[in-house]
Amino acid sequence: MTTLTVIGFWGAYPEQDEATSCYLLEKDGCRILLDIGSGAMAKLPQFAAPETIDAVLVSHHHYDHIADLGALSYNRVVMQALKENIPAIQLFAPEESQLGSYHRDHTMEITEYKESDKVVVGPFHISFYKTNHPAPCYAMKVVTKDATIVYSADMVFDETMVEFIKGADLFLAETSFYKGQEAATFGHMNSEEAGRLAKLGGVSELVVTHLPHFGNKEQLKVEAEEAYQGNVSIASTGLTWRF
Ligand SMILES: [Zn+2]
Ligand SMILES: [Zn+2]
Repeated sequence: MTTLTVIGFWGAYPEQDEATSCYLLEKDGCRILLDIGSGAMAKLPQFAAPETIDAVLVSHHHYDHIADLGALSYNRVVMQALKENIPAIQLFAPEESQLGSYHRDHTMEITEYKESDKVVVGPFHISFYKTNHPAPCYAMKVVTKDATIVYSADMVFDETMVEFIKGADLFLAETSFYKGQEAATFGHMNSEEAGRLAKLGGVSELVVTHLPHFGNKEQLKVEAEEAYQGNVSIASTGLTWRF
């Protein structure tokens, strides 16, 4: 069984007692995080002990995706001092992000990835697609024996991504704006674009995430459903899928 849990889902900054981008994937006792935004370390213990996280894959070097990397690193410092056999965190970051030079200590083993790389962490096979965004940013496709999950990271709507998302059981699509609002200028997608991309990719289920701090979030689902006739969920803390 593969389990996906939303730890954080806000764009830009977290609302009170919540977090920005962070998704927990678990299978066969292996735990990885896709991004680790602000507030993520305060929410994660509800779902998994931070010292049990094997790897973190970072999509890009924007604070709403990496802010709590330092907090996770300090947790590992403390846990390695208190307990035996707590391994370093495997961190995978874009080669352009320079996180590799910044976070080099015994708590993390850092691998810089590029678009053509394939990363394997336990039962998880991860590939990348470079998105159009102000910082070098990579969507991720996570494949296990149970499921294919695609995470858009941050992106401008881009039809060339369709092949990458095709066949996904679940598509976590950033939805930073409402239908009709100009998202591309800011390096993001709106609800209609997230729905359209999900339809083009023929994904089994769409999750709108990386949500805006304005408007009525329920409207994002309605607007995405106008473009995509599948099951649409609005990301929220603790929302979980089991495959
Ligand atoms: Zn973001
Ligand atoms: Zn960004």
